[in-house]
Amino acid sequence: MTTPKVVLKSKRAQPFFGRHPWVFAGAIDRIEGAPVDGAEVDLYSSGDNFVARGLFNSQSKIHVRLYSWEPGVVLDRSFFRGRLGRAVELRHHVLNLAGPGRGYRVVFSESDFLSGMVVDRYGDWLAVQFTALGLASRREMIVDVLRELLQPRGVYLRTEKGIGKLEGIELHDGPLWGEPPPPDLTIEENGLRFLVNLAEGQKTGYYLDQRENRVAVAGLCPGKRVLDAFCYSGGFGLYAAKAGATEVLGIDASEPALDLARRNAVANGLGNTTFTCADVFRQLSDLVAAGRKFDVVVLDPPKFARNRAAVPEALKGYRRLHQLAVKLLDRDGVLVSCCCTGLISLPDLEDVIAQVAAEAKRDLQILARRGPSPDHPVAISCRESGYLKCLISRVL
Ligand code: SAH
Repeated sequence: MTTPKVVLKSKRAQPFFGRHPWVFAGAIDRIEGAPVDGAEVDLYSSGDNFVARGLFNSQSKIHVRLYSWEPGVVLDRSFFRGRLGRAVELRHHVLNLAGPGRGYRVVFSESDFLSGMVVDRYGDWLAVQFTALGLASRREMIVDVLRELLQPRGVYLRTEKGIGKLEGIELHDGPLWGEPPPPDLTIEENGLRFLVNLAEGQKTGYYLDQRENRVAVAGLCPGKRVLDAFCYSGGFGLYAAKAGATEVLGIDASEPALDLARRNAVANGLGNTTFTCADVFRQLSDLVAAGRKFDVVVLDPPKFARNRAAVPEALKGYRRLHQLAVKLLDRDGVLVSCCCTGLISLPDLEDVIAQVAAEAKRDLQILARRGPSPDHPVAISCRESGYLKCLISRVL
C-alpha cells in the first residue's frame, strides 16, 4: 500500500525542510490518498520533492505532525524506540539525572522530536501526556517501549484541559499500566523531599522545569527574608529555608497545593516557613499596605496568555506583580521574575521590568538570565518550545 501524500502549496515548504514539525491546514494544497486520522503520510513540496514523514489529523489545526526527514522510514515501534531511547539517553547519560526517587522530564514533545507527548518520571512512576492524536492512538506501543527503557512500576495518563477538542482525542486521566501511584509518592531533588500528586496535582504533579532555578535562587537566600509568590508545593521557598533563610512566606491560591507545601516543610524539617492561601495580587497589596519588607521576592505565576490576543492583558498582569514586588523589597533586595508564557519573550519581560524600575525610580541590575532545567531542552527547529524565563535581578 502506498503512503498517502500531503502536498504543500507552492513556496510553503521551507520551514519543513528546516525541520519544523507542525504543518497547518493553510500550508496544504492537496491530499492524495485518503489518510484516516492518525495515519502515516508523506509530506511533499509543490515541486514533488519528499520533505518528511508524519502523522495526519484532520481534526487538529496541525494537520500533519512531522517525525522523520529520511525518505522510506516507517513510523513503527522501532522508529519510536529509537526516538524515545535518544530522549532517555540525554537524561541518563548526558545530564545524569537518573537515580532512586529522582524526578525529571524524560520526553519533552517537539524538543525531543516527538511532537505531542510529554513523559515525566517521578521515582518508579511515569506520568504521560498526549497532545497529538497520532501518538495517543499509539499509546500501547509507546508505553510498552517506555517500560522496556525505564522499568517503571506504573504509568499514569494525564490529559491537558481542552486538548480533547483541539485534537479530537478521547482520553481520561488514570493508570495506563502497572500499579497506581501511591498517595504519598515522593521525589528527592537536591537533598529535599517533595510530594508529587500524580493523579491530581498541577501539570503532571510537580514543576520539574524550575529545578535549577531553585538552586540558583537558594544560593542568594542565607540569612534573608524570602517571599515565594505562587509557591505551589513550596519549591523555591523550601530551597530557601534549607539554604538558611531566616523567614519564608509562601503564597498560593490553591489549598491542595499548600497542603503539599506544608507537608513538604514538615518532611524536610524546615520550620520558619509559613504558607498562606490567597490571591497573590491581593496579598501582595496587603503586605505593601502593612509595610512588610523582604530581601528576596520570587514571582512564579502561571501562564497568563494562551493566544496572542491575550498578551496585552498578560503584560499588565506581569507589570502589576512587579510593581508590588519592588515595593516589598528592602534595600538592594533580590527579585526573581519567572515567566512561563511562551508568547512573552525575554526582551518583553525585561521591558516590563525596566518600566517598573523606572517608574519606581529604582536602579536594577540583572544578575542572571535563566531558562528551564536542561531536561526541558529547545529544539532549534522549533524554538516555540522555549517557554520558561527566569530573571534574577538586584533592585537598588
Ligand atoms: N513556584 C512553583 C510553581 C508555581 S506554578 C514551584 O516552584 O513549584 C503557579 C502557581 O500559581 C500554581 O500553584 C497556582 O495554584 C498558583 N496561582 C495561580 N493564580 C494564582 C493567584 N492569582 N494567586 C495565587 N496563586 C495563584
